Amino acid sequence: MLKRLNLQIEGIVQGVGFRPFVFSLAKKHNLSGWVLNNSKGVEIEIEGTEHDGKGFLAALREKAPSLSRIQSVHVQEIPVTGDTSFVILESRELPDRLPLISPDTDVCKDCLRELFDPADRRYRYPFINCTNCGPRFTIIKDIPYDRDRTTMQPFTMCPECEHEYNNPLDRRFHAQPVGCWQCGPRLMLLDGNGNEIPAGDPIQKTIELLLDGSIVAIKGLGGFHLAVDATATTSVLRLREQKHREEKPFAIMVRDIEKARHLCCISAEEEEILLSRLKPILLLRKKPNDLIAESVAPRNQFFGIMLPYTPVHHLILDSSFEALVMTSANITEEPLTKGNDEALERLHGIADYFLVHNRDIHIRADDSILRTMAGKLSIQRRSRGLVPLAIPLLEKGAEVLACGGELKNTICLTKDTNAFLSQYIGSMDNAETLRIFIESVDHLQKILQVKPEVIAHDLHPDYRATRYALEQHNVKLIGVQHHFAHVVSCLAEHSLAGPAIGVAFDGTGYGDDGLIWGSEFFTFDYAHYVRKAHFSYVPLPGGDAAAIEPYRMAISYLYQTFKDGVLSLDLPVVNRYRDRLGTLLTMMDRKINSPLTSSCGRLFDAVAALADLRYVMTFEGQAPMELEMAMAVDHDDFYNYQIMPDEDGTCATISFDAMVRGIVKDIENNMGPGIISSRFHNTIVCVIADMCERIRKQAGLDLVALSGGVFQNLYLLTRAVATLQQKGFRVLTHEHVPTNDGGIALGQAVVARRACR
Ligand code: ZN
Ligand code: ZN
Ligand code: FE
Repeated sequence: MLKRLNLQIEGIVQGVGFRPFVFSLAKKHNLSGWVLNNSKGVEIEIEGTEHDGKGFLAALREKAPSLSRIQSVHVQEIPVTGDTSFVILESRELPDRLPLISPDTDVCKDCLRELFDPADRRYRYPFINCTNCGPRFTIIKDIPYDRDRTTMQPFTMCPECEHEYNNPLDRRFHAQPVGCWQCGPRLMLLDGNGNEIPAGDPIQKTIELLLDGSIVAIKGLGGFHLAVDATATTSVLRLREQKHREEKPFAIMVRDIEKARHLCCISAEEEEILLSRLKPILLLRKKPNDLIAESVAPRNQFFGIMLPYTPVHHLILDSSFEALVMTSANITEEPLTKGNDEALERLHGIADYFLVHNRDIHIRADDSILRTMAGKLSIQRRSRGLVPLAIPLLEKGAEVLACGGELKNTICLTKDTNAFLSQYIGSMDNAETLRIFIESVDHLQKILQVKPEVIAHDLHPDYRATRYALEQHNVKLIGVQHHFAHVVSCLAEHSLAGPAIGVAFDGTGYGDDGLIWGSEFFTFDYAHYVRKAHFSYVPLPGGDAAAIEPYRMAISYLYQTFKDGVLSLDLPVVNRYRDRLGTLLTMMDRKINSPLTSSCGRLFDAVAALADLRYVMTFEGQAPMELEMAMAVDHDDFYNYQIMPDEDGTCATISFDAMVRGIVKDIENNMGPGIISSRFHNTIVCVIADMCERIRKQAGLDLVALSGGVFQNLYLLTRAVATLQQKGFRVLTHEHVPTNDGGIALGQAVVARRACR
């Protein structure tokens, strides 16, 4: 008895070697029929005995190619046709299309072997790839994923490549970016003015230039890196100066895991992440070393390390480098550079040389940044290698575009039960990023075939992403409070709907009362939230300036606590800024450019300045980072604080006057910043635990979601999770989306979907 089955497979099944896999599997199980890519995924018809059909179906999920992810298999029995062979057919477009596109991946082991095999025809070919590896998301202009809809379109395959491309049994069968020395993209080395340097081997020449101390802009998968030898202090400092990046740590790339082990402590779990196909930047605790220039990651206990992931990286690091600085090629906070001409223009005067190639990058993607926190993986920047993977949602709903926040912007699109968070777009405070934002919205809508009926946005009227949303026509607009979006994103990424207690600690977010929030305790679900507590409001003297000059916040907290007594305090921050005191106090008294805030980030800033660690920041988050790094270990003391319920008992405020007095006393008693930092961190943990217990008593909830940029603090997160768990809470932290503003688009999208149900 013969049977014929039609299978529709959805998930990441295109551009990952799925059809050749199906082809060989069908042959193995003596089945006839066909396989093709359609705009939903892969469609298969198989005809044969019931036994063979069952064997095929079982192996389909079990043995699927490494880069594929099967989301669903829809099976339907249809009449037999009497096919005698199994064939691969042309792609077919369907009206309702949702194929999932694979992220970009690192070069695979098979390709690496060929890359370094002198007998192979692709020996040292810098763009070697196959169906199991190479560029995807960053070169795709439209779907279905075929070569002529990618930036490989201009390259006509040579007969040998074409043969591989058309042979179902070859591992390059329908590998869209396939190419070789004869027919594929090529590297060029340019000088600072864009003139090609007639180097026999651009890679060898690049290695020599880097060893000589040059800064080389290297075109990669999702954009350019700026590279220098990480052991050459003068080169690293020169790069800092040219890039206007004074102290923010640079990521480094090392040849292999052994080299990484020389520089950092690596757990078994971290080793697995470092070596994984994602090849992220992983933050790892430094070992003492005198090899890497101190200026690579000054005053930081961590290195951001990644391993080579493109053939070009492997070729360059197959040399004597201890490590290369590989930092995103941009001027501070501007978007990553992707085009050759753009690179020559924007990086003019920064890079001494340019190692470029003629395969265009269609859409930018920065390196993803990960670290382990509280025993789990946490994503600080979700970008190359993770985009456009879907985050599964609990239910179907409207197609929504969520526009994200102002800093670390990402956007989110929903379709069916999937949320697609975009690659990292960046700080929206410059016009260039807005252009990239619009480009990314358009690209993601196109490749996912989403036409949003609803646009979700932050409540802040001046955010560029909000203004973009408000300019769109014929869509429903839904504003979502910033910290509500934070805590919902945490619930949603865990496929939970609440209700729960939400703790959102971060720098800035527009509050319902028009003030700047940032230390919020909520009870919430996808539809509602109630603000149960927050830190006492304090003035931000100087507004935005206070967010980058922590001394202003220190003065503000001192003034709250001591009033005019601040003038007679003998503290480093007061003495240092004594000539500014009068102006700052007047500003706060007369409420001139001194908006009120409950921001937790600003409290960290204030304590960093009080502890004589950081008065003015050169990059976002520097003061809290240095406060955390300064911490004395194994110290359990904490300062006093006060929780004050309001009149009707619904929302409490948390006052830190007692803590500020405690810190001042510690300074007067010559306690070092390490002790102050520990006591401060422990105080914040106590506040979290204390407040959550109060809310549990009132509302009967024991599920807590922690979200917001402050939870990038390893000590705080680890200790808060442990303390809450000891007290019997179930604690959710971010694992799949960033806890910083890079994650809020997901929360916005989920809230908006619920609101228009
Ligand atoms: Zn490969
Ligand atoms: Zn070729
Ligand atoms: Fe935030």
